[in-house]
Amino acid sequence: MTRPTTRPTAASAALFERARAVTPGGVNSPVRAFNAVGGTPRFIRSAAGAWLTDVDGNEYVDLICSWGPMLLGHAHPEVQARVAEAVARGTSYGAPTEPEVELAEEIAARAPVERVRFVSSGTEATMSAIRLARGFTGRDVVVKFAGCYHGHVDSLLASAGSGLATFAVPGTPGVPTSSTELTVVLPYNDRAAVEKVFAEHPGRIACLITEAAPGNMGVVPPEPGFNEFLAATCRANGALFVSDEVMTGFRASRFGQWGLDGALEGWRPDLVTFGKVMGGGFPAAAFGGRADVMSRLAPEGPVYQAGTLSGNPIATTAGLTTLRLATDEVYAHIGAAAETIRTAAADALTAAGVAHVVQSTGTMFSVFLTDVAAVRDFDDASTTSAPAYAAFFHEMLERGVYLPPSAYEAWFLSAAHDDRAVSTVLDALPHAARAAAS
Ligand code: PLP
Repeated sequence: MTRPTTRPTAASAALFERARAVTPGGVNSPVRAFNAVGGTPRFIRSAAGAWLTDVDGNEYVDLICSWGPMLLGHAHPEVQARVAEAVARGTSYGAPTEPEVELAEEIAARAPVERVRFVSSGTEATMSAIRLARGFTGRDVVVKFAGCYHGHVDSLLASAGSGLATFAVPGTPGVPTSSTELTVVLPYNDRAAVEKVFAEHPGRIACLITEAAPGNMGVVPPEPGFNEFLAATCRANGALFVSDEVMTGFRASRFGQWGLDGALEGWRPDLVTFGKVMGGGFPAAAFGGRADVMSRLAPEGPVYQAGTLSGNPIATTAGLTTLRLATDEVYAHIGAAAETIRTAAADALTAAGVAHVVQSTGTMFSVFLTDVAAVRDFDDASTTSAPAYAAFFHEMLERGVYLPPSAYEAWFLSAAHDDRAVSTVLDALPHAARAAAS
């Protein structure tokens, strides 16, 4: 689909052509291709603060922030400086380093984990957490929720089977049935479904994994007490509760989603996965949790897990610097900017007569173009109008705002989203809302 634009896109279009000749779909992660919204994906040349510059010289306020990681904004001078110093000392040693220890200490000080193991992507983190949960419990079944994304782990790329509490079917070609037949997929925010699955598979469930607050079907906050209920139900049944904070960790709040419910309600997950912000824009991720569970991991215990670039000194330096700079003031700033933008988005859509729901958890939020009253699970999220969102997205892009090119994503802000960036968004919203209406 080609869309009219008054902005130059020839350089992006030419690169996309070349990219498609050497890379499937021209991109290295599917959503970047703009397939859901149509048009030419913008190839980015550089970024600074809240702004992206593409290869045609267009500037955009970035509301993706690399899908979450860039909490401080792009090219933060102190992160750049620490990374440059680290690069000068060499880029990878395959031996332990001090930044790994410091980053693990920083994470353990802010999240409910006693031990941390670094990996290079959120996918590896969830994959490893599940292996560990199975190794620790000696059980095999994994429970997840529809609409929660945990990376492209075979057993988690699963869709719900024909009924509740039945085993799942592969969500993509290439995943054998044998990889998903030990996965059960349930509707999110549904306590009865959780109780039913534990009743139907006594002694078999190794873990329940959930996004701490789903952000991959748009932001769907857990209903009050839901995470605590999950933790308690897992404990009562001898299963582990794995809270996936790859997106929400150090983002939804200083203490992640857990800082918004667990720390207040007094429960702790058994295992937590992290990624995005803790890598400061580099490939770093982690999983951590209870000391007795983590001690089952090699070389302390028998559950194997490893990685050539795990705990890479550049990535851990970037992550450590980012977390140390992520003060309460940073979260207060991002929270206030998020509040301004989501209120303006709701007002603009109301004025244009476009049905919508704006939902948030901490500093994360998303805008659903739907007429349901609230989005509490994947079925609700699926009522979003893709054509309306595509029109909305392109009008924002045309007016210099880079939104997620998919209707089912969170919008991300950073400490660098200042008045100029926010007012660019506010100016664009009424036009985009009218485009969505037509
Ligand atoms: N878990 C969650 C909640 C995510 O949002 C993502 C990625 O978006 C992942 C896991 C996978 O992380 P990665 O893309 O680093 O493999």
